[in-house]
Amino acid sequence: MQKKPQNKTKKPPPGHDDDQIQPRFLCIKRNAVTDDYKVSNQVLGLGINGKVLECFNKKTGEKCALKILYDSPKARREVELHWRVSGGPYIVRILSLYENMYHGKKCLLIIMECMEGGELFSRIQARGDQAFTEKEASEIMRDIGTAIDFLHNIDIAHRDIKPENLLYTSKERNAILKLTDFGFAKETTLHNPLQTPCYTPYYVAPEVLGPEKYDKSCDMWSLGVIMYILLCGFPPFYSNTGQAISPGMKRRIRMGQYEFPKPEWSEVSQEAKDLIHQLLKTDPNERMTITQFMNHPWINQSMMVPSTPLHTTRVLTEDREMWEDVKEEMTSALATMRVDYDQVKIKDLDTSSNPLLNKRRKKATQLQASAL
Ligand code: ADP
Repeated sequence: MQKKPQNKTKKPPPGHDDDQIQPRFLCIKRNAVTDDYKVSNQVLGLGINGKVLECFNKKTGEKCALKILYDSPKARREVELHWRVSGGPYIVRILSLYENMYHGKKCLLIIMECMEGGELFSRIQARGDQAFTEKEASEIMRDIGTAIDFLHNIDIAHRDIKPENLLYTSKERNAILKLTDFGFAKETTLHNPLQTPCYTPYYVAPEVLGPEKYDKSCDMWSLGVIMYILLCGFPPFYSNTGQAISPGMKRRIRMGQYEFPKPEWSEVSQEAKDLIHQLLKTDPNERMTITQFMNHPWINQSMMVPSTPLHTTRVLTEDREMWEDVKEEMTSALATMRVDYDQVKIKDLDTSSNPLLNKRRKKATQLQASAL
């Protein structure tokens, strides 16, 4: 049978770079990045690992972003996982990778597409008079959800979904929002038995027995927090002390204590509030999965979501100073969640030894013996 000719001009849907999906093998160039790119002094952003700089492709003139990481197993993991998902829907694309010496140390350099539109909430804040609507919030959540759905389906949890990591391609109206920073991403099917402390299965909380699920549920919690902020301009949990993740806020997160106060929430649909409730469930076992999220009517029928004007832009503008605290608190809350699930590993029952296990074994042997 003759193969159908491929329609090469067909455009991928927005947010998808399917035509540019990276080859599966990791390709790290050893020549100097400055052979191929002109690196400018312009800092595009500051992260925990250093600066992201503006740079230009010497051949094409294309403006790009350069992230420099000191070489380490963690940096390698970031590069490898980001590379693997680069070109996926609503995910910042890696253009090339380099390994260079920089300040006397081996570094990994990531050249990415330049996200010139800036952070998600800066764009909403800068809207001026034109009200941000519930329908627009739903479309944004659908796009972020599409990225998470893609990642979770290939068993990768991002684990650091927060406002600073959601960037727009440009300042244009049709700009696309994309997810970046795979510094805490994790393959949820792999376990590393060498790095984590051990617990015996009998004593361990049930959620620890399937940690891979909990890495993904951390992303779902982030989706809930981002959706809440999109709809009103302030976060669901906020510490009154101004100190990042105060004991009070930790308790409120643990107890799932948040409200939908007036007037910001008065006009927001019940469907949106129900969806937030499903995402912010304190027990990760009860929290919604990405598949359930994508099938929720507020997401998969976003054209039916009412264009209710929201208070978001006003609140973000009025509480500009609060925003830095909000970001810090979300960063700390995510770190707490990751630690909880990273620190545990289940011992193999057959090879582990402790007094209670030994007693149980002895009893089992005695019972077997008496049955004979
Ligand atoms: P870190 O892992 O050190 O936190 P990030 O990857 O989050 O670093 O980048 C830090 C900041 O740099 C981001 O919050 C953003 O403002 C900016 N940035 C990151 N990637 C890009 C990009 N591709 N284009 C433009 N700015 C970027």
